[in-house]
Amino acid sequence: MTSTPAETIPLLDKLVSFDTTSRNSNLPIIEFIEAYLAEHGVESQRVPDETGQWSSLFATIGPKGTPGVALSGHTDVVPVDGQGWDTDPFTLTRKGDRLYGRGSCDMKGFLACCLAHVPTFQAADLAVPMHLAFSYDEEIGCTGVRPMIAELGDRLVKPRLVIVGEPSTMTVVDAHKGPVRWGTTITGRAAHSSLAPLGVNAITIAGQLLGELKLIEDDLKRTSRDERFDPPYTTLQVTEIKGGAASNIVPQECWFGWEIRALPGTDPDAVEAQLRAKAEALLPAMREVAPEAAIMIERTNDVPPFGAAAGSEAVSLALKLAEQNETLTVAYATEASLFERAGAPSVVCGPGDIAQAHTPNEWIAVSELEKCSAFLDRLTAWAQN
Ligand SMILES: [Zn+2]
Repeated sequence: MTSTPAETIPLLDKLVSFDTTSRNSNLPIIEFIEAYLAEHGVESQRVPDETGQWSSLFATIGPKGTPGVALSGHTDVVPVDGQGWDTDPFTLTRKGDRLYGRGSCDMKGFLACCLAHVPTFQAADLAVPMHLAFSYDEEIGCTGVRPMIAELGDRLVKPRLVIVGEPSTMTVVDAHKGPVRWGTTITGRAAHSSLAPLGVNAITIAGQLLGELKLIEDDLKRTSRDERFDPPYTTLQVTEIKGGAASNIVPQECWFGWEIRALPGTDPDAVEAQLRAKAEALLPAMREVAPEAAIMIERTNDVPPFGAAAGSEAVSLALKLAEQNETLTVAYATEASLFERAGAPSVVCGPGDIAQAHTPNEWIAVSELEKCSAFLDRLTAWAQN
């Protein structure tokens, strides 16, 4: 028995038709959602970025000013560039139980389910309100949701709990690793390689820092452990390096990029502090030769690991609504960690399989939308007076 509102698939069709690749403005889809909500008597608030070309949208259905359940999703999608699609990625195409289109799975399917449920939420006598919290730029480091989160508890009511509808085939996810990335730039001094002592070799300094990172990597592997993850420890990897100008010049500059995939409980600040300490130890000798020598360590991406607090209401409610007995972890990162860090207990549970996300011929099964709709029906019943 399915209770999927008839509008779910037409809404998904409409949402997919907006090319919301992260590099494009998302205002057209936001305008569509705003108008849809307004038609159903729901006011919404934009939280734009500083350029005004992107915006999140926050709306409440039910009693105002009361902390409710936030249904959180991102409006952006990953590019289709260079991918071989059998159908137009921005036209939802049904083949049997599958609905093909960019974002159908990640995560416009969830947005469509939420929007199609607005009339249900409206008709119910909700004691606990529903908030829709739709963001942008999730796919490029969960950046778009941050200004909205910054307003929670201020202009926007801070939710009692947050359900992040990233594709989990409607299983309940209470933890994921956090990707945190840094760029490190070493400035030395160039010299003719026959007069090497007059220079400061930026690549050699980089090598010493990389040696320190290797020690940190081994240390994290030894000391962090959670068997729910694969691999079951925090990994650290150097991902890129550039430096040097010619085979007879002591290199002035070297840059390398590195990241950790942090388990819940790993402190990225402590990792960064250890490399900074090594840099501080190297600088005096560098500056004896070249006072301008410098080592700059910059964090370029910061999605903290997500681990729901013990006894989290978000997790217990999601388990009940999803009719599941156990929680899972996932390998990908979500906005849940940012909400959780802001004091809004969060959980990840959404329709579709992450295996289909970001791929050519991305699809979501109609049965997943049905499962999500049933979840939202049970949520409505739970939230009623
Ligand atoms: Zn996603």
